[in-house]
Amino acid sequence: MMDADAFAARLAAIEDRIEKACRRAGRARAEVTLVAVSKTFPLEAVEEARAAGLVDFGESRAQELKEKAERLPGRWQGGSVRWHMIGHLQRNKAKEVVALADTFHALDSLRLAEELDRRAAQASRTLPCFVQVNVSDEETKFGLTPHNTEAFLDQLADFDHLHVMGLMTLASPADDPEAVRPEFRRLRRLAEGYRGALGPLGALSMGMSGDFEVAIEEGATHVRVGSALFGSRA
Ligand SMILES: *Cc1c(COP(=O)(O)O)cnc(C)c1O
Repeated sequence: MMDADAFAARLAAIEDRIEKACRRAGRARAEVTLVAVSKTFPLEAVEEARAAGLVDFGESRAQELKEKAERLPGRWQGGSVRWHMIGHLQRNKAKEVVALADTFHALDSLRLAEELDRRAAQASRTLPCFVQVNVSDEETKFGLTPHNTEAFLDQLADFDHLHVMGLMTLASPADDPEAVRPEFRRLRRLAEGYRGALGPLGALSMGMSGDFEVAIEEGATHVRVGSALFGSRA
């Protein structure tokens, strides 16, 4: 069990930092959604965070999303929270995400898009998605290359049951958040420069515990904050 007062204090400190980053960037606080990344923490932690006023929660594994969202349903099922699936997804888990997630942040292949679209059609819903782009120069991560992103986005226009909100990235690990500012900026420019079949891309999912303020200054609409809220993961 978390200490409710300690959680409230951490949340207030993060809220303050988000507000200040918005102010520095001349943005409204309402433009930024705080996604509380609850992976590895028990459902009780989510419930306590919900009681403290948080609505959006992120999970990175389909199985863990399932365990939590079956007990605490998301908005699209009439519940009071929004579940964001933020991690890489295998096609054989697409069904769970369509059944339980409100938003998917890690769309990175056409075959996965096909499967999600097919499942979403069966479920009579539209799944809001972000396309994951690897804007760092690391080779091991998931995501489209910037070069391939535009063509991929155009192909997604054929899927009636996916709603592409924008782009998502995982920045390189860095001690100094300023070091990843160019990556966030690159993602924003990629989204702003897109003139294809999907129309304007309004949303950017970028920034985590170590770098969310820089991400907000660079245009993030969704920051995914885990350890700074819930504590370090075992
Ligand atoms: C775990 C995770 C986060 C949150 O990381 P923290 O450093 O704990 O804030 C954000 N995005 C993704 C995709 C993650 O897997």
